[in-house]
Amino acid sequence: MDIIHLLPDSVANQIAAGEVIQRPASCLKELVENSLDAGAKRVQVIVRDAGRTLLQVIDDGVGMSEMDARLAFERHATSKIREAQDLFSLRTMGFRGEALASICAVAQVEMTTRRAEDETGTLIEIHGSDVVRQEPCVCPVGTNIKVSNLFFNVPVRRKFLKTDQTELRNLLTEFYHIVLVYPKVAFTFVHNDEIILELPAGTEKQRIEAVFGNPKRNVYTSAFVDVNTETELVSIRGFVIKPENATRKAEQYFFVNGRYMRHPYFLKAIQTAYSGMLSADYQPSFFIYFTIAPEAIDVNIHPTKTEIKFADEQAVFQILMAAVREALGKFTLAPQIDFDTQGNIDIPLPKDTPVSRPQVTVDPTYNPFHTRGAIYPDRAPKNWESLYEGFSQPLSDPITPNTQITQNTRIPLSDSAPVWQYKSKYIFVQTENGLLLINQHRAHIAILYAQLLEQLTHAQGAMQQLLFPEVLSLQADEMILAAQLLPDLQAIGFDLEQLSPDSYSIQGIPAQLANQSPLPVLQHILQQVRERGADTQAEWREQIALSLAENAAIPYGRSLTEAEMRDLVKDLMALPQYRHTPDGKTIVSLLTDEEIAKRF
Ligand code: ADP
Ligand code: MG
Repeated sequence: MDIIHLLPDSVANQIAAGEVIQRPASCLKELVENSLDAGAKRVQVIVRDAGRTLLQVIDDGVGMSEMDARLAFERHATSKIREAQDLFSLRTMGFRGEALASICAVAQVEMTTRRAEDETGTLIEIHGSDVVRQEPCVCPVGTNIKVSNLFFNVPVRRKFLKTDQTELRNLLTEFYHIVLVYPKVAFTFVHNDEIILELPAGTEKQRIEAVFGNPKRNVYTSAFVDVNTETELVSIRGFVIKPENATRKAEQYFFVNGRYMRHPYFLKAIQTAYSGMLSADYQPSFFIYFTIAPEAIDVNIHPTKTEIKFADEQAVFQILMAAVREALGKFTLAPQIDFDTQGNIDIPLPKDTPVSRPQVTVDPTYNPFHTRGAIYPDRAPKNWESLYEGFSQPLSDPITPNTQITQNTRIPLSDSAPVWQYKSKYIFVQTENGLLLINQHRAHIAILYAQLLEQLTHAQGAMQQLLFPEVLSLQADEMILAAQLLPDLQAIGFDLEQLSPDSYSIQGIPAQLANQSPLPVLQHILQQVRERGADTQAEWREQIALSLAENAAIPYGRSLTEAEMRDLVKDLMALPQYRHTPDGKTIVSLLTDEEIAKRF
């Protein structure tokens, strides 16, 4: 008896769907890309329960004929390529003709669509690849597609969906990748009846501001400089962050021909361009848009993968690095103070002091490949006083905004400077230029964070054994997360052993946490990693270090001895970035002599 037979389409589609539609975010991506391919100028996304119950995309694109509306859901049905040759000159986001077939295999889909030339539109309803309804309908030009109960017939996939919070984050990540390359299209994103993003049509810069900043103030994008390079091989445009505005958490986006991509090798090019300008654990934020002949790249790889191969990666690497370096060079040669920041910064000038230009020193021997000419010290030298030498802009410069200490300002302090503690919360230090106010708890967080991160990287956390082990009980999704973090938790000094499918026994804790109850700390870590969306090891390590530091730092209300205060200030000032906690809270503020004098 013959035993080989062809799978029915519905089964084949369901299997293939696993490839294309892995989670609500991949479904959203496919739908929105279709709208853009259809020339939409306005796209609305409506989501319920992070896409579990509803994912709806409404566009004003070209719409479909009655026949196409039905065909669109067939596997390998596409209007975008006709022959293999077309693959090499793709100008659309989609081309495989698999997305709708895959989506309708694992969800309940209802679509209405109409072309401008048709009087009536088409309504089609498909449940798990079965067409349950198709009829003419009245609807606006464009397409409105509603995907309900994703994975209703694939319980395993449904079960593997993460918490709503994580899935919503995935949806937004996918959404960002698209909206950042289509600034001329207006988008809205609604989740559970709440407008999460409202993005009017505009320029690339306006779109970036609308997504990450505040469109009214343009604060976010003013931290960037433009990159612009045109060569025969490739054109590169975009924005890179000014070194002084970099943080640990970076937005790093590459796009090629209107498509988001990950590219570790090109990331290296950017990092190289910044070398010597950022302290060790700071990352540059950037939005880089490549335009290149479609033949010179290969996007015909896995639909959910975001890596794209370039034919001539080394040449592009060089061009990119040079472009970024040029952009940064222009910036470092410019005066340090940003005079075009919306004009709303009031820089107080003492009346009869002549205004001098901010001094800028240029090191002609500067070579970013050698750390010798580093603008920021990568590592604090042993003698902390020497840190303050060689900075071109002294604090007494009359143009320096009074209380704003810029990232690269070092405040001259002496070992014998008077220090006080104020209300068991702040430390005041007398400096040459005024009174430095330090938040003791935050200062200690920054110090511990740097130490912990270092220990994590080298798996050198010191452990303190618990006399009485405690039990950490977790929910299923937390267990998955805990298993993922386990090696790093151990590296930092937790001694954890899995007791049962839903619990760990805690036998030891990091030395920094001595005498603290480990349960809330571990729960805090898990919660932070999840909430802040740490998806890579580097990111969750940061969250572990931050969370531990927050728990272990000297609290408000603790009085400190003079020696403790001095140590704290010294350790703080030795950090490459001492002004802010890793999550951006202000640690220090300077009350200048002029400000004090003005009060009398
Ligand atoms: P692909 O995008 O790879 O061609 P899809 O399965 O995503 O495959 O879509 C199949 C076809 O359905 C598309 O080629 C297009 O002709 C049509 N289509 C899908 N979505 C839309 C839309 N929003 N507006 C107009 N046509 C669409
Ligand atoms: Mg498509």
